[in-house]
Amino acid sequence: MANEVEEEEMKRIVTETEKTFAKNFNIFDLPDVAPGLPPHLELQRTRVFCKNDAPIHTTSVSYSGAYNAVGENNSVKLESFSENFRVEVISTSPDGMELEFDMIGIDAAIANAFRRILLAEVPTMAIEKVFVANNTSIVQDEVLAHRMGLIPIVANPRIFEYLSENDQPNEKNTIVFKLHAKCAKGEVRRKVLTNELIWLPNGSELVKESGVSTSKPKTFTSFCRSQDSFPEFADNPIAPSYPDILIAKLGPGQEIELEAHAVKGIGKTHAKWSPVATAWYRMLPEVILQKEFEGEQAQKLVRACPAKVFDIEDMGNGRKRTKVARPRDCTLCRECLREEFGEPKPKAKGEDKSKREWIDNVALRRVKNHFIFKIESTGSLPPDVLFTEAVKILEDKCERVIADLS
Ligand code: SF4
Repeated sequence: MANEVEEEEMKRIVTETEKTFAKNFNIFDLPDVAPGLPPHLELQRTRVFCKNDAPIHTTSVSYSGAYNAVGENNSVKLESFSENFRVEVISTSPDGMELEFDMIGIDAAIANAFRRILLAEVPTMAIEKVFVANNTSIVQDEVLAHRMGLIPIVANPRIFEYLSENDQPNEKNTIVFKLHAKCAKGEVRRKVLTNELIWLPNGSELVKESGVSTSKPKTFTSFCRSQDSFPEFADNPIAPSYPDILIAKLGPGQEIELEAHAVKGIGKTHAKWSPVATAWYRMLPEVILQKEFEGEQAQKLVRACPAKVFDIEDMGNGRKRTKVARPRDCTLCRECLREEFGEPKPKAKGEDKSKREWIDNVALRRVKNHFIFKIESTGSLPPDVLFTEAVKILEDKCERVIADLS
């Protein structure tokens, strides 16, 4: 009985024309599909969707066969990377120590590799040893040494070599500074700043207590030539990046006399060698209004945004609408999707449908391969040089991997 009913149903649904079509169907007769991914998949591949509760489609699709089902090859191609990759400088700070640039056409993993290399692997010179001859200030020797270690020094690290445990400090691996600051009795308290650090291009002047009398007193370094004879330092004496960093404060009758030895190192060993105060990136924000907001709603949307992303546009005839004026400034705070502006409440009888309007019509996205990168240098090297160094370090790493694999 049940089978009869099903047969009847089939007869009613599948017409004769459809049967003939199915019989003659050939997949090769279908029209050509347009090349590329369907728009919704392309959007998911290239954008992070920032919903009111959490972002979605956050990962980048790196598997080459991810889109095989729709006939798209997702493998990385060097030619398309070289064609699409570009760097655009957006701004530099007046002192040249901060740089903002856009890196376009790159994967998040590579952008993050640059960030990590900048923080931890680009070498700089930093004070490693402090020989305290006299310290009657209230700052203990070890605290003073720690503070001095964190003073950024302007010296091209590429000129210097790393100092290993068994090496003798010499002009190629050590920079020596001396500090002698005093506050005489009866004077007011004074500050000891980094401008009082004096570079000693001929090396240490502190005599080592060897107990053996020799013609030349032994010091803590053995320089063969003066560092100021290096062409790089002839017009550019080595000094701290900023002259006004506070080292200590001296009261009347207090004195600090020391020698500080700076060596080459990387941030991975200690943060004092990190060449950047910070290096960070964020994906380019994209704010899209999927419908026009006019009148009071437009004003409300403009007021809702703390980053002033929206503006009011005059359309004439007294009509005003919201426009996305500064999408780059969007911090993704989602204020524009909050309850009072449009986030839906659980469905209830008599729900105000206008509350859904913003959430359905304001799209917050991030472009997955467009990074706003910012480098804030400590002052030891300019940020553009730091980035170039980071690229070289990543290149070296890649070459090592290739060599190991081959
Ligand atoms: S997410 Fe925040 S910053 Fe971005 S457009 Fe909305 S309100 Fe403005």
